[in-house]
Amino acid sequence: MKHLSFLLPILLLVLVIGCGPKSTTTTTESSDNTFASFEDRFLDAYWKQHPTGSIFAGYGKYYDLLITPDSTAFASNVAFSRQWLDSLNTFDLNTLNDNNKISLNIIKNQLESDIWYISVFKQQEWDASVYNIAGECDYIINQPYAPLDERLLTLSKHLQTTDAYYKAALAMLKKPSKEHVELAILQNQGGASVFGPALMDSIKASHLSDADKAALQENITKATIAINGYVDGLKAILADKNYTFRDFRIGKELFTEKFKYDLATDFTPEQVYEKANADKQLYHTKMAGIARSLWSKYYDNQIKPADSLKLIQMVLDKIQLQHSSPEHFFDSLTRQVYQLKKFIVEKDLFDFDTASPPIKVRIMPAYARGFSVASAEFTPPYQKSGTTYYNIDDLTLYTPEKAESVLKEYNNYASQLLSIHEAVPGHCVQGIYNNKKSPDVVRAVFQNGAMIEGWAVYAEAMMLENGWGGNSPEMELVHDKLKLRELANVIIDYELQVQNKSKEELIRLMVVECFQTNAQAEEKYHRATVSQVQLCSYYAGSTAIQALREDYKNKMGDKYNLKEFHEAFLSYGSSPVKYIRERMLN
Ligand code: ZN
Repeated sequence: MKHLSFLLPILLLVLVIGCGPKSTTTTTESSDNTFASFEDRFLDAYWKQHPTGSIFAGYGKYYDLLITPDSTAFASNVAFSRQWLDSLNTFDLNTLNDNNKISLNIIKNQLESDIWYISVFKQQEWDASVYNIAGECDYIINQPYAPLDERLLTLSKHLQTTDAYYKAALAMLKKPSKEHVELAILQNQGGASVFGPALMDSIKASHLSDADKAALQENITKATIAINGYVDGLKAILADKNYTFRDFRIGKELFTEKFKYDLATDFTPEQVYEKANADKQLYHTKMAGIARSLWSKYYDNQIKPADSLKLIQMVLDKIQLQHSSPEHFFDSLTRQVYQLKKFIVEKDLFDFDTASPPIKVRIMPAYARGFSVASAEFTPPYQKSGTTYYNIDDLTLYTPEKAESVLKEYNNYASQLLSIHEAVPGHCVQGIYNNKKSPDVVRAVFQNGAMIEGWAVYAEAMMLENGWGGNSPEMELVHDKLKLRELANVIIDYELQVQNKSKEELIRLMVVECFQTNAQAEEKYHRATVSQVQLCSYYAGSTAIQALREDYKNKMGDKYNLKEFHEAFLSYGSSPVKYIRERMLN
């Protein structure tokens, strides 16, 4: 099976050279046509090579395949990427139109990144959490790409080789990091709930034959045993007193390379890190001013502390007492989404049709838990219908102390900014545009994390500028605190992964200088141990978008219009901001 996938790119390489995309040096319709058909063939081959990716992209084919993640499979992936890079290099960038230039660069970055992840970063050997079938199974079961009966039959096929999948996964782990083993246990255990009562109800409601139902049940049982086997294997590693774990820190060289591939930005990690440190100072000054103006409202005639960080913290302490309860948190965020949709339509900030693309607020599914309090889950890019989810963790599952800490963090002000960020007009809205309006599927499927996170962060500030929150100083102070959180994300990511700073130093930075609660700082520290570079994407991306909007405004002069900026910006899908910039300022 695996060798079959080699044949296709080799054949295509011959075809592409035969068509002679290099035969002309000026932009021609024919080289663009050649590129367009190249892109279609490439994407189909890519999804066949990466069927799990095909499921998340909503491609609609190859869902039944589950690749066994052994060394042959990883070698095959590297060979695949090399061959397609060779084909890609037969195109002369100068002969392509601007849209195709962006697409070519995105494909190139993706293939080079795929090779790097396997050959240099070797994540498959040390990150146990990359092995988890729950997410893709949830998509197979719940996304509306086919009728229920067909989806269940696909699931049944997809689960046939889970035993081999998880055995290979365990064998691939050469020297895992302890932190990723722990994460893998948590996520795989949680993920098993995808095969729980809701699925059983679906099977009952289906029209499958008794034989098909029995086969599906058997495959589900096998999958559950395989997941438990993997979890047991990981637990045995943890229990082994003599086991030598890899350090979770990746160090400067890998961090710099990962930064380049993941963010696709011209900035170096050091430049972003230094700007974050400088901006931290500016926010401290601004926040001290707001805190002074709010002091008497919350503390009457009490003497203000001389230390401005203490002053800011004391005012924030009062603001943060204004919060929901674990039982009502979900409902209050659901209401916010409704009000935010109404606001962006009334203020004419987007050509957003609130009726057609559904954004569903739901309790976070188990497989997605362990990273954050809330998250956005897009409709897959190829899928033109379907649901975009705003997932909110169930706070009633937390200990009372943890729930209280999270609720202070996501108080009545910050929770609004959370809903802006994750849902409207942040991630969920951007995800909808990504699917519906982008001219080229490449930029919708190979998403740039810095653009996506940058957009959500940009959205917070943009909504306040346009009057969300009624210019309240409390909202402004809480928003500034969020800005500090984004700066801190950069600082702790870099200081932990590259500079080897201690947990105590990083927690102090987050709690004392950035006003985070202990629970929040602990959660973020944990995230910084199991991810790398991702934490930089918020600040790097939003800084780039703000700068682009300024330059676009200057370029347009009297004709500048915020809605048009948003519509144009989002029409480029989830491309790196540096490519969107080239197009919008040209
Ligand atoms: Zn986000």
